[in-house]
Parts: sequence; structure tokens; C-alpha cells
Amino acid sequence: MDEPDGGRPGLLAAAERLVAAWERRFGSSEPHPATVPDPARLAHAWEDFGRRMEDHYPFFHPRYAGQMLKPPNPVAAAGYLAAMLINPNNHALDGGPGTSALELEVLAALVGMFGLPERTLGHLTSSGTIANLEALWVARELHPNKRIVHSQAAHYTHARMCKLLGVQASAVPSTPDGRIDLDAVSDECRRGDVGTVVLTLGSTGLGAIDRIDQALALRERYDVRLHVDAAYGGFFTLLADGSEPLVDPAPFAAVRACDSVVVDPHKHGLQPYGCGAVLFADPTVARLYRHDSPYTYFTSEERHLGEISLECSRAGAAAAALWLTLQVFPLERDDGLGAILAACRRGAQRLGAVLAGSERLTPHVAPELDIVTCFARERSLTRIDSVSARMLADGMADRTDPLFLSLLTVDAPAFRTLHPGVQTDAPAARIVRSVLMKPEHEHATDWLAARLEALAAG
Ligand SMILES: *Cc1c(COP(=O)(O)O)cnc(C)c1O
Repeated sequence: MDEPDGGRPGLLAAAERLVAAWERRFGSSEPHPATVPDPARLAHAWEDFGRRMEDHYPFFHPRYAGQMLKPPNPVAAAGYLAAMLINPNNHALDGGPGTSALELEVLAALVGMFGLPERTLGHLTSSGTIANLEALWVARELHPNKRIVHSQAAHYTHARMCKLLGVQASAVPSTPDGRIDLDAVSDECRRGDVGTVVLTLGSTGLGAIDRIDQALALRERYDVRLHVDAAYGGFFTLLADGSEPLVDPAPFAAVRACDSVVVDPHKHGLQPYGCGAVLFADPTVARLYRHDSPYTYFTSEERHLGEISLECSRAGAAAAALWLTLQVFPLERDDGLGAILAACRRGAQRLGAVLAGSERLTPHVAPELDIVTCFARERSLTRIDSVSARMLADGMADRTDPLFLSLLTVDAPAFRTLHPGVQTDAPAARIVRSVLMKPEHEHATDWLAARLEALAAG
């Protein structure tokens, strides 16, 4: 077989060749004429489609530092394409014999990365939302009449999914730098009706890391379960050891003692959308999924992933893409995915340091991962809010040198603690947030800082 060179065109062509070779093994099968597109209609649709696609922001480019968005690595795209053309369904081994095996391997890799027990049970999901839903569902099944506690800085999905599940959820405050307030969690646990505490390893707003290491004591004292939402930050585990860890090691090391973990390969795992994961340290939770539908096509005694998942049909292509990616970019600190994340982390540290010396901008908090936040040096929240909104709009509208940012709403009490000089004349203000989740951002920090300054100057 021709070896693709790692570039996208070569890899996508190699995916097509791989599938064509597989198809040939079964003899020729001409497509039914009804499935062949009319050339004129196709040409028109394709042209129209091209125009519709122009509307997107340049997610691939360092200019895009807005939300948690970037394209998949070409290796993931090729793995996805090849498997998707075959289209296995990882619901059952009969639906995706090959890709189910790949899914088990990538799960073992994720379990190994977090240092969770070898018998950890888990599977891929279509998103972090569904993965968290599943973890909260298991939390409810194990403690049917108890509350779930999360922080105000936790992803909004937790409050919403608890409502969906009919579980009482309590949001405790987060500290001004975005971490769960563990004293407040203790107070809740002391009431005796808390079943599970949700901890966030890398909050969506600030990339804040909850002190999971300190939360372990709650588990001992109050017999609560701990669920870690590491949808965004999970892969930074790779940077948490070595002589110079790039992230605070203790909270990451503590994940191995928690009950369930969610991580999103479609965020920092180089994957296209449609790839989350949920892991349960106690494999006996599998019993909660038991069902006996008359139409399942489970034909073997081996465990089918559909037997331990709330979702039924799932793209085998997602498992294939992640598996192929991890062969090429392994879950290691100094190589593969670790090297990519390290560049993002260094970029954020560097931009944070440059902004700390800025005369026009103030960093909001020191970045813990790769999300950098700042605001214009203005006297009041009202002024800060309007300058942030203007920076967002001007950055995006600039024809020659655009910069795509995002905004984060910060409430007045956090400002009073972190930035006491600012007049809190409003309940909250929007500040500027940039997610440096592309390694290319590492070498764009001086440009980024200069652009931010220029935008703040107006
Ligand atoms: C993104 C995110 C989610 C939601 O995951 P999706 O994959 O977008 O559904 C949940 N929790 C955290 C911390 C996140 O960053």
C-alpha cells in the first residue's frame, strides 16, 4: 500500500484506497442507478455548498482564539473517513466487529492515562454532554434519593441533566478564580443527603482546576461519590508529571481515586465532533444498564458496548479515528499528544505573562490550562464590559488582521476580590477570553498580545 505522507490530501486519498481494497474482497457490486447523483444537480449543490461553507470562522488558524474549536488532525479525519465509508455501528459486535475492538483499545489507553483501575468500565459517547448524563444517571441509580452537588462554575449541563433525571442538584459557589468552594461542599455533605459531588478538571470558562486532591477527604468522611468532569482538561493529565510539570500535578493524580470521569476526545484529543468518553472505576455499574429487548442482535457471549451505553447506535468511525490518532500521537508527555498540549500550555503561560506587563490590559486570573482571560484597564465594570464587547466585534470585523475572541461574564463579587481597584457599578461584566487550544498559538503569542492591545486601544 502507498504510504501517505501525513498531509491531508494524501491521507484522505489513502483512506479511500483502503476502503476500495476492502470492498474488492467481496466482489464487484455496481451502485444502483437510483443512488447515482444527477451531474447537473450535483454540480449546482456542490457550488452552493461551497458558498455556505465560507461562512465559518478560521477555526484552524491561530487568528481563531475564541471558543474551544479546532479541526481534527488529518490522521483522525482519514481514520474517520475510512471507517465511516464502511460505517460500522459500535452498538453491537455484529454491527462493528473491527471498530468495537478499537474502541476497547482506546478506552484502555484513556484508563491508563488517568491511572484508573484496570477493570474500569467505559465507552465512547457522542459528546461530553451525553457522557456526563450517563455519569449522573449512574449517580442517581446508586443513590436514588440523594442530591448531586456541583459548583456554579461547572458546565451548565450538570444542572440541566439533573433536572432531566429528576435529581435534586445543588450549585455551591466557586472561588473567584473559578474552583469549587470545598468548604461549601463540606457544608452540603454534612447534611447527610449528598450522593455525588461533581468536580471539574478544567472549567469551560477559565480552565480552572478543582482541587480534586483535597476533595478526596469528602469521600472518606461523608461516603459521597466523586464524579470528575474532565471534558475539557482531561488530556492535560499528560503534562502533570515529570521534573517540570506544566500543570498542577496533585488534582490530576487524584482522578485515579474518583468514581467516574468524563473526557472529550473531540476537544483536546484531535478528533472531529462526535467523540466523548465516560469511565466508571467500578465495573459492576454495568448491571444498571441491563435490559432485555426482543430485537437486539447480540449473538455472542462477549460484552457488546451497547450493553453498557445509554446510546444505542454509535459511530464506529469515532473509535477508529481516535485509535488511528493515538497510534500516531500517543498519550505521552514528551511525544504525541503531550507535545501538542505542552505547546498550548506554554502559549497560554507566555500570553498571560505578556499581558501581566501590559499598560492597557489586566489579566483576570493566571491561566491554569490554555485559556487566557483579560480586560481593558478601565475604572468600572460598565466600561470594562463595553470595551470587551467592542474588542470582540472589532477583532472579528477587521479585514486585514482579524482576531476571533470570545467573552466571559464575571460577576461583581469576583471582581471585588481579584481586582479591588475596579468600581463595581454593575452586577457583572464581560471580559475577553481566548482559548489557545492550537499548538500554533505558542508562536503567535506576541502577535496576539499586540492585537489585543490594539483592539483595547480602539
Ligand atoms: C465542553 C464541556 C462539556 C460539554 O461537552 P460537549 O462535548 O460539548 O457536549 C461538559 N463539561 C465541560 C467541562 C466542558 O468543557
